[in-house]
Amino acid sequence: MTTITNHLPTAELQALDAAHHMHPFTANGELAQKGARVITRAKGVYLTDSEGEEILDAMAGLWCVNIGYGRDELADVAARQMRELPYYNTFFQTTHVPAIALANKLAELAPGDLNHVFFAAGGSEANDTNIRMVRTYWANKGQPDKNIIISRKNAYHGSSVGSGSLGGMVHMHAQGGMPIPDIHHIDQPNWWAEGGDMSPEDFGLARAQELEKAILELGEDRVAAFIGEPIQGAGGVIVPPETYWPEIQRICDKYDILLIADEVICGFGRTGDWFGSQTVGIKPHIMTIAKGLSSGYAPIGGSIVCDEVAEVIAGGEFNHGYTYSGHPVAAAVALENLRILEEEGIVDHVRDVAAPYLKEKWEALADHPLVGEAKICGMMASIALTPDKASRAKFATEPGTVGYVCRDRCFANNLVMRHVGDRMIISPPLILTPADIDEMMRRIRKSLDEAHAELVEKDMM
Ligand code: PMP
Repeated sequence: MTTITNHLPTAELQALDAAHHMHPFTANGELAQKGARVITRAKGVYLTDSEGEEILDAMAGLWCVNIGYGRDELADVAARQMRELPYYNTFFQTTHVPAIALANKLAELAPGDLNHVFFAAGGSEANDTNIRMVRTYWANKGQPDKNIIISRKNAYHGSSVGSGSLGGMVHMHAQGGMPIPDIHHIDQPNWWAEGGDMSPEDFGLARAQELEKAILELGEDRVAAFIGEPIQGAGGVIVPPETYWPEIQRICDKYDILLIADEVICGFGRTGDWFGSQTVGIKPHIMTIAKGLSSGYAPIGGSIVCDEVAEVIAGGEFNHGYTYSGHPVAAAVALENLRILEEEGIVDHVRDVAAPYLKEKWEALADHPLVGEAKICGMMASIALTPDKASRAKFATEPGTVGYVCRDRCFANNLVMRHVGDRMIISPPLILTPADIDEMMRRIRKSLDEAHAELVEKDMM
């Protein structure tokens, strides 16, 4: 068999990939025809592919490489930890130093009384933990029927059966028997697409009040928790109107409903605070974390849990856990990543330098003939593509067709930018300098201009 290395020609690597590798969220037959782009290395905010092209990664991998690529410190820590203790679990009355240290650090960083951490290998697993934890919490308190979790349509909480059920992605639900029972979805606060004639403020309130309506319909004694991403990420970087989250908090408080903030994207500096909950002003009982926790250098996630919930769960045995809960190498890497975020002032850099600079440039995109709203929160941002700004019109083509045209132009211009339907989104590494932002915006504008010209030529505008 051929030894497969970076030195093989791209076409050969693509053929070997297509022969044996099934890609996530991909029409694999179609990709096999086209050939996947082979990424060979990365440094800072740039990827290099097998053709030697330098690609600006405006998605930070999958929203995760917060500190940027190529930090040797994390590699060194991983190697050291692998030599010392490559694996041990924290089941059966044992523990180890990386898990202890990381849990303590997270308790220090997390707001309020979010002081307890249950580890997982990623965000999906952590949200599965949350489903079982909030139901167990109410059962331990003598209310086993208080087990419905309310989420939102177009939310993303992961791809396992549990977390995919929490999410509100219809195309996911259509495959494999989701959602599981006792998950209820209300409408999302996406003003651009669904706000009609309402002002954003009124719309934000109305969408939050759907939670109250759902609780009253389902029964206060049946609803365990509400889960939401402070800013919806995979749904298209939907920044809710400012009226939304305070009303959700009021409703959760009034009806004694646990609030779960899914911080998998928003956490660890992306919104300009350590956590998105702080940016939108909510006090969750549980936060889901992953991605930026290790900047993607090692697979790790978890749930940060408040004192009261942790205490009730501790009242019995919680029959739950993963082989890689608190994996020592991943935990050590995460701890080093948090050290870098903190000591290099990266969250401050986002708040004081990168995000304000990006905001100014980003919002100016609304002048482009293809762009409707341009929304941004910290270092996550979106633009809605539209044939007519004034009426917030949708394209006549299948949703996503125009987004795909635009994404293809980005690809050709060595820029990783994603499309969600006909919204274009970014979530770059947090270390972006103003000069990097200028370069990113230059590529984005070029791609938008080219997409616009193509759409005009094809009579699609
Ligand atoms: N929650 C949110 C908000 C996410 O964005 C994601 C991943 N994109 C997940 C959960 C799932 O995390 P993972 O892919 O690590 O399982």
